[in-house]
Amino acid sequence: MIYLEPVCYADDDLTFVQAFELSDTKPADYWSADECSNIKTTIKRHYLDKQRNTCCYCRQIIIVDHGRVWDTEHIVPRKTHPGFMFTPQNLALACPDCNGHKASKQTLIEPNTSMYPSTGDSFLVVHPHFDSYEEHIAMVGLVYSGISDKGTWTVVNCDLNRHAGRAFGWPEPIADERFEDLVDDVFDGDGVAQGIIRAMIESDLSP
Ligand SMILES: [Zn+2]
Repeated sequence: MIYLEPVCYADDDLTFVQAFELSDTKPADYWSADECSNIKTTIKRHYLDKQRNTCCYCRQIIIVDHGRVWDTEHIVPRKTHPGFMFTPQNLALACPDCNGHKASKQTLIEPNTSMYPSTGDSFLVVHPHFDSYEEHIAMVGLVYSGISDKGTWTVVNCDLNRHAGRAFGWPEPIADERFEDLVDDVFDGDGVAQGIIRAMIESDLSP
């Protein structure tokens, strides 16, 4: 099952990517080179359209098309695997906050691979192309809870509960076990926003 249609390179973009794939040197910072500007535009336009302005990790919708608002996300970091820099299945759009928190954390279960995996089983993260978000992460308002190992990995490593923390004025980063208990309570209970607020008051989690 494919959950996100990968970008399909054509014409000059295809020639450009093929040249990169064949080159012996693939520096991770090549992404910032001037000659990559056209292909980066192609990638951003494609995923902005396919993801409908929705971040692949926090699922927040940002109704701004300008590329400055969006980060092209390398699901396997290009720092560790520059060879996957233009691999369509390794690309998606993320909001800058999710992208910043995820940074260059390794997402491959077996990092010593030269072939890009074709299923979600090979990844620690909820993969935007291969995994059903709803099967791994539950959302109630601004609160996220992992319902699988990779769901939890994504919630923690993208710091998805930062939204709830900001909304309620909590200090960052959120690294308090009481918060984890609260999230569990929310998802075990009636699952409505009032339940979140009530549980916060009862848990005395004010900053
Ligand atoms: Zn996000």
